Amino acid sequence: MFGAFGGAYMPETLMPAVAELAACYAEARRAPDFWHEYRQLLQDYVGRPSPLFLARRLSAESGGARIFLKREDLNHTGAHKINNCIGQILLARRMGKRRVIAETGAGQHGVATASVCALFGMPCSIYMGRRDMERQLPNVKRMELLGARVRPVDAGSATLKDAMNEALRDWITHVEDTYYLLGTGAGPHPYPQMVCDFQQVIGREAREQFLHLTGTLPDALVACVGGGSNAAGLFIPFLADSSVKMYGVEAAGRGLDSGEHAASLQRGRPGVLHGNRTYFLQDDDGQILTAHSVSAGLDYPGIGPLHAQWFESGRVSYGSATDDEAVAAYHWSSRREGIVPALESAHALAFARRLAATLSPEASVIVNLSGRGDKDMETVLGFGAMEGKQ
Ligand SMILES: *Cc1c(COP(=O)(O)O)cnc(C)c1O
Repeated sequence: MFGAFGGAYMPETLMPAVAELAACYAEARRAPDFWHEYRQLLQDYVGRPSPLFLARRLSAESGGARIFLKREDLNHTGAHKINNCIGQILLARRMGKRRVIAETGAGQHGVATASVCALFGMPCSIYMGRRDMERQLPNVKRMELLGARVRPVDAGSATLKDAMNEALRDWITHVEDTYYLLGTGAGPHPYPQMVCDFQQVIGREAREQFLHLTGTLPDALVACVGGGSNAAGLFIPFLADSSVKMYGVEAAGRGLDSGEHAASLQRGRPGVLHGNRTYFLQDDDGQILTAHSVSAGLDYPGIGPLHAQWFESGRVSYGSATDDEAVAAYHWSSRREGIVPALESAHALAFARRLAATLSPEASVIVNLSGRGDKDMETVLGFGAMEGKQ
């Protein structure tokens, strides 16, 4: 549990599977050979360490602090998701599982999962909301190319929440031989702990790289939060450094008060869904609301339990960026640095620009550039026209 959040609230049929997973991960977590293979694959397959890049032109235009980018976009498959997939596929093999299932929103987790399944010779089925399949068609094609079966989900809002429901349903009917490879730091225990363990490599590297470069620690860290895994991965290794401020950036969609956003912490309440107690967007009767964001990867009405705890303790501050601001930051980074960011990461950039402007030129901000943005080109190019029609 993370304070009052987390837990493992599952249907009875899945309790044994979740307990088996927790026991196996507890064993693997203590096993040096497990981490040895994980580190080796991160180096040779993923291409780690990812660079820490001083974005001089973005810094200059912000008119304040220096902005550093942690380049998770340069990882194999184009985002931070692969760090987690490497860890979990090693665990799946250790557990003797023969088949992998996963859910995906933007398709980044699906592509990373399909890649490691190809690498380990395991068949996989990826659940994806039909609406997300339409917005992220190139990633659907990539998953199929990698040998995965992409299963469209039409239920509900046909986005990530619904894909996760379907993946859980599949798991219930195939618990014996199937490994559920969850893509973010949410869901029942041990997933949040496990995913955050696998993503901490981001913050460990960033801390070491920044210290090496400057001899000091950064003043602030900024990361977008969907389920919260890239943010947690960056933040955790800095938690004990009280001088380092941390900012999670939620998707404000068409505005925090528009009813069309994905700001689970700033506009949600605690509840239980998908196996954990955390913050969710919900109506007065506790019905989960549909999230909205221009980026499919942030379009989830909940958030990992670790962030719920940090939100209440105040260790991490939570801000937001709207669709418009994210699209503007997408162009900004592309034009000024030659780096096309994922729309998810563009939320963090938009917030960091505002934050940097309030800080002195001696201050430094590290932004987690969680992924690359070629997958979002069509969404962004159609964005003005799409909004104009409404
Ligand atoms: C999936 C995704 C996110 C959101 O997921 P988190 O678990 O919050 O990190 C952010 N950025 C990119 C590029 C993604 O693919």
